[in-house]
Amino acid sequence: MSVDLTQRFAGKSVVITGGASGLGLAVAERIAQEGGNVFLVDLNNEALEAAKAQLEADYPNIKVEIFAANCANEDEVKAYVAKAIELFGRIDGFFNNAGIEGKQNLTHEFGSEEFDRVIGVNLNGVFYGMAEVLAHMVEQGGGQIVNAASVGGIRGVGNQSGYAASKHGVIGLTRNSAREYGEKNISINAIAPGAIMTAMVENSLRQMGGDNWEEVGKQFVSVNPTKRFGRPEEVGALVAFLLSDDASFINGTVIPIDGGQHAMY
Ligand code: NAD
Repeated sequence: MSVDLTQRFAGKSVVITGGASGLGLAVAERIAQEGGNVFLVDLNNEALEAAKAQLEADYPNIKVEIFAANCANEDEVKAYVAKAIELFGRIDGFFNNAGIEGKQNLTHEFGSEEFDRVIGVNLNGVFYGMAEVLAHMVEQGGGQIVNAASVGGIRGVGNQSGYAASKHGVIGLTRNSAREYGEKNISINAIAPGAIMTAMVENSLRQMGGDNWEEVGKQFVSVNPTKRFGRPEEVGALVAFLLSDDASFINGTVIPIDGGQHAMY
C-alpha cells in the first residue's frame, strides 16, 4: 500500500484555537497544505478574516471556516465546538492553542486579577475546549488533541506566575486525560515551545527591552544551544505530525520544541 505523505489530512477536519495568527495560523497552514479542512477560532475577528482569505487563496481545495470566540468563556467554547461539528460533521484533530502571556512581574507584585485573567484563557480555556471536544470524539469513535503548553510549563522562567501556573496546569490536564481516553482511540499530547518568533514573543521582548527589544532578543537566544528563535512553521510541522495517523501510538506526552533550551536548565 502506498501512502501519500503530502495529504495526511485529506478528508479530515481540524479545529484550531488562537488560529488567526502565530503558531495557530502556522499549524492551519500546514494542515491545509496536507489537504485538511480547518476551523479557526480566535478573539480577533479581523485577523480571522485575513487568515481565511490567505488560506483560501493558497489552498483552494480545502474548506476554511472561522469563528470569533473568547476561549475563556465556557458558553463561547460550547458554541464554537457545536458550529465546527455542524459545518464539518466531525472533529478529527484539535489544536487547543489560544493563550496569552500576561504582564511580567514578581510574584508579590503580580496581582490576583492578572493571575486570574491568564489562568482564565490558558488553563480554563484549554479545559473547556478539551471537555467539549472529547465528548464529541468519544461519540465519533476517536480523534487527536494537542494542547499548547510551554517550556515555562516544565521549568521556572521567572516573572510569569500566571503563565507558569497555567502551562504547568495544561501539562497536568494533558497527562490526566490521556490516561482516560486511550482505549477510546483518542490521543492527547502537549507541545512545549521555547521562544518561537510570533507577536507574543515580540510583545514580551518589548516589555523587557522597549525600543531596544531586538537587541534583547539577540541576548535572549544567545544562551539557546541553537542560538536562534524558532519559526512558527517548525511548530506547524510538529503539531501536524501529532495530529496525524503517523502519531497513532503517541499519547500523554509533552514534546519540547525549543532548540534545546529545556536541556540546559
Ligand atoms: P500569538 O499572540 O501570536 O497568537 C495567539 C492567538 O490567540 C492570537 O491570534 C490571539 O488573538 C488569540 N487569543 C488570545 N486570547 C484568546 C482568547 N481568550 N480566545 C480566543 N483567542 C485568543 O501567540 P503564539 O506565540 O502564537 O502562541 C500560541 C500558543 O503557544 C499560546 O498558548 C502560547 O502560550 C504558546 N506558546 C508560544 C510560545 C512562543 O514562543 N511563541 C512559546 C511557548 C508557548
